[in-house]
Amino acid sequence: MSAQIIDGKAIAKKVRDQVAQDVAELIAQGYPPPGLATVLVGDDPASEVYVGMKQRMCKKLGMESFSFRLPADATQEEVEKLVSELNADPKVNGILVQLPLPKHLDEEAVLRTINVEKDIDGFHPLNIGRLAQKGREPLFVPCTPDGVMVLLEESGVKFEGAEAVVLGRSNIVGMPAALLLVKRNATVTICHSRTKNLPEVCRRADILIAAVGRVEMVKANWVKPGAAVIDVGTHRVDDPTKEKGYYLTGDVAFDEVKEVAGWISPSPGGVGPMTIAMLMRNTLRAAKIAHGLVEV
Ligand code: NAP
Repeated sequence: MSAQIIDGKAIAKKVRDQVAQDVAELIAQGYPPPGLATVLVGDDPASEVYVGMKQRMCKKLGMESFSFRLPADATQEEVEKLVSELNADPKVNGILVQLPLPKHLDEEAVLRTINVEKDIDGFHPLNIGRLAQKGREPLFVPCTPDGVMVLLEESGVKFEGAEAVVLGRSNIVGMPAALLLVKRNATVTICHSRTKNLPEVCRRADILIAAVGRVEMVKANWVKPGAAVIDVGTHRVDDPTKEKGYYLTGDVAFDEVKEVAGWISPSPGGVGPMTIAMLMRNTLRAAKIAHGLVEV
């Protein structure tokens, strides 16, 4: 039987609609619109596209966006100075430094400079540290893994006692996804480039999160029948037979895996739209934190 397709676009719309409604209520109570500051260093075209999407989405949901740009040769001091100014600006509730930064910059040091109450990407070590601790909650959960969890929840997938396998251990996806699953009482295995017998380990999973960055690596025989499979991977593959000269795909061989899985999120159309929706939700949360409306 074919898997239930998890519609990331529809679930993301639901999250965004709720954010827009909450923003309108906040403003009706006399608070200023939540504000997101984006910091773009250099002129990477993909980063420009991502930052533009985030700014437009902010406006669409009734929030303010402030755009800051520094040249590709900006110094560490200049980037950190800008972040410090944004930390001090009450109109700015969330600060997003678009990654990756140019190679000469210390990314970790820049992220550490962001006030933890404005860290809407959830990458500050304090937020990740709280995520890893039992009985503690981060101020913000990183957007992509947060979106993964919402996709699973909205699909009715059960976490308690489930065997979960996370393929990938990056700071922004794999590791926080694994920590979130542990918090929900799943039994979690984290796989990486040195994991042995990968297909066999993946086949144990009731919940399989593919965040490995390899085109269609997860095949049907890696998947337990009935498992929930979330494809975080996003790839543009050159293909002269397509009108655009390429096609988009993920870390999962969707056509074959959907015949085995119980649920599957496609790529594109799964996790991608969730990431930006969760960023909007985090920006709203940052505004509520600033106004003392939520306890942290
Ligand atoms: P990453 O930093 O490159 O991490 C990839 C992880 O996969 C690493 O832990 C690596 O292991 C592991 N890995 C790589 N090749 C492997 C192999 N052959 N066998 C087993 N493990 C292997 O990537 P990322 O930033 O987490 O992103 C993962 C994917 O998600 C990418 O396709 C990216 O484009 C996509 N992504 C999508 C969104 C979205 O919004 N939809 C957001 C972020 C990322 P080691 O740790 O041992 O190197």
